[in-house]
Amino acid sequence: MDSHISTTAAMPRSASAQACMDLEDRWGAHNYHPLPVVLCKGEGVWLWDVEGKKYLDMMSAYSAVSHGHSNPRIVSALIEQVNKLAMCSRAYHNDVMPRFLEKVCKMTGMDRMLPMNTGAEAVETALKAVRRWGYQVKGIPANKAEIIVTSHNFHGRTIGIISFSSETSYQEGFGPFLQGFKAVPFGDVKAIEQAITPNTCAVITEPIQGEAGIIVPPPGWLKQVAEVCQKNNVMLVVDEVQSGLGRTGKILACEHENVSPDAVILGKALGGGVFPVSGLAGKRHLMDVFTPGSHGSTFGGNPLGAAIAIKALELLEEDHMCERSQEMGAYLKKQLHSIGSKAVREIRGLGLWIGLDIDPNFISARHVCERLAKLGVLSKETHETVVRLAPPLVITKEEIDWGIHRLRQVLTEI
Ligand SMILES: *Cc1c(COP(=O)(O)O)cnc(C)c1O
Repeated sequence: MDSHISTTAAMPRSASAQACMDLEDRWGAHNYHPLPVVLCKGEGVWLWDVEGKKYLDMMSAYSAVSHGHSNPRIVSALIEQVNKLAMCSRAYHNDVMPRFLEKVCKMTGMDRMLPMNTGAEAVETALKAVRRWGYQVKGIPANKAEIIVTSHNFHGRTIGIISFSSETSYQEGFGPFLQGFKAVPFGDVKAIEQAITPNTCAVITEPIQGEAGIIVPPPGWLKQVAEVCQKNNVMLVVDEVQSGLGRTGKILACEHENVSPDAVILGKALGGGVFPVSGLAGKRHLMDVFTPGSHGSTFGGNPLGAAIAIKALELLEEDHMCERSQEMGAYLKKQLHSIGSKAVREIRGLGLWIGLDIDPNFISARHVCERLAKLGVLSKETHETVVRLAPPLVITKEEIDWGIHRLRQVLTEI
């Protein structure tokens, strides 16, 4: 199945895994707890470590690698653009960014796009947009704007964003925090209705909570939230950084509910797995609050990122990646159900975004991930009980079977 991929013998063996981990431990800040795997090569859905061991990537760098590792057409677009013009700042126009903005807007049903680099920056952009809209359009008194968020959200790691996180580990030692947020339970439309005041400028939520454990809200929830927002003159911004661009089987997860929010936040897969590209795409009434000088980013909208993103978006369409996500996601789910492990409490998710909820009485999700890694399947736990399975959207049935074989081994051994 992978005869086109270079063999173990050709793998670089520049450094032993232990030496790499020791070096990182000595010189890096300790803000992550990675699995003990040192990767040095990727191709499609496969990864290799420095010892030449091959792994199936069931993580896709939190959806950033939806197109597969080193997707040749994305790499070509990158090389072509980097040889022409990579970076020039927004002090000038460039000839690639406009086509990128148009493409994003046309594919998401939005009017305008403000390009940034990382997901967190795009979320910060959304916070600024909705606050400014609140003051300048809705007429909220100065510095009184309120934003409603959902509990157990994940929107990134800036001080602004962690100010409305429910995770103490994200917040501890980083105060004082930003004011003006109200958290309500995810999936509860009544709670949103009750939290709205005349000073509410926006509701910001993920459509499916990713880091919280791939939590799918009750059917109809987002639609009802959109209706409540409209009725109360409140902006609805949906964070599609992880859920967007095919991950759930649609360009936007909101499409499952026929919701077109006032703005969507994009990131991760927008960079085609090779470069950070993000942004806020929204309707004119919201995006027109930005005026020259009100916001910016040195790297945002750079020609290299724009060219990569255009190609990433084109491939979503040309390679029918949404349909693949639906089909392969359904297949993966079916195969997971067929394992019938007593340690699995629930299998949930949409498209190729699946959470295995593990009963902690049997084993922790971390231990499942460690055992899977030993057998050559890379996942990552979220919280103590959820193993996420989110392979690149280019995965084939045969590749899923390769992974299922190993998942079955780990889950039936418990
Ligand atoms: C990953 C993520 C972010 C933050 O993106 P970064 O690129 O890590 O800053 C924001 N929102 C959601 C839903 C995410 O999954």
